[in-house]
Amino acid sequence: MGAAALAQTNAAPTYEDPDDLYAALANQPVERIAQAGGEIALVFADGAPGVDRERVRAWIGQAADAVTRYFGRFPVQHYGLLVIAQDGDSVGHATTFGYAGSATRIHVGRSADTAAFARDWILTHEMLHAALPDLPRRALWLQEGNATYIEPIARARAGYLSEREVWRQSLVGMPKGEPGPDDDGMNGTKRWARLYWGGATFWLQAEVDIARASGGRHSLRDAMRAINRQSGGNHVDWTPEQLMAAGDAATGTNTLTRLYTRFAGQRVVTDLDSLFASLGIVDRDGDVVFDDAAPLAHLRRSLTRRAA
Ligand SMILES: [Zn+2]
Repeated sequence: MGAAALAQTNAAPTYEDPDDLYAALANQPVERIAQAGGEIALVFADGAPGVDRERVRAWIGQAADAVTRYFGRFPVQHYGLLVIAQDGDSVGHATTFGYAGSATRIHVGRSADTAAFARDWILTHEMLHAALPDLPRRALWLQEGNATYIEPIARARAGYLSEREVWRQSLVGMPKGEPGPDDDGMNGTKRWARLYWGGATFWLQAEVDIARASGGRHSLRDAMRAINRQSGGNHVDWTPEQLMAAGDAATGTNTLTRLYTRFAGQRVVTDLDSLFASLGIVDRDGDVVFDDAAPLAHLRRSLTRRAA
């Protein structure tokens, strides 16, 4: 073995290969953080030198709290979390895998301060991915859209984000996900804005349609909880049809199945102006104003108001 090969062998892995992530979770020192309904196995990759561990633990606690309140318990029985140190003052790139157990790889800046962790949405987003069964590649828009839609709602309900900020993000983001002239149905879409914000629009529409179809007795959260309970999270593979059927059974409607069939296979333009107006979300020169006389204002409030 030459000197170059030896140096390569001894270098800390970058963890780009998810097998290296799983190996780190299995072989490096682990902190087990008990959750209601499960546990988080936290590993600081190669010790993550320079990262403020106390801040990291507090930040993990808040993200776990947000998803636990949303699902009624921590959504994964065993969740591995690999924190990788990097330069900078913010939370960086993250990816969640399921094939060898629910696990997230996330980069954290050594200079990230308390405010940077409080601002972070990425870890909550990744935990939401871990909560749902994995889907085939063509349905990536359902997964990214779901985490994009629910993350700010879950954080607002737990008191980590203002209601105004939740809806400001939707007002700014969702129009970017609308189909262009050449776009077809959502299945197989690869464009970033379509995957994340077009997908989020699907789930907001599902939210409104479930409330209407059930006479206000159910919300998308009931469907999400059922899907989470039945699957156990992203270490299992489901079809989109299976996911929609499980959600529909929980709300006593066929809302998700119908909406999925429409969005997946054909170009759907959503009248976002009407949708936001019905929820009483008004854009006044870039500021979000709430109209509590709007027909679905009560639904908007029930979604993002801080829960007791
Ligand atoms: Zn994502």
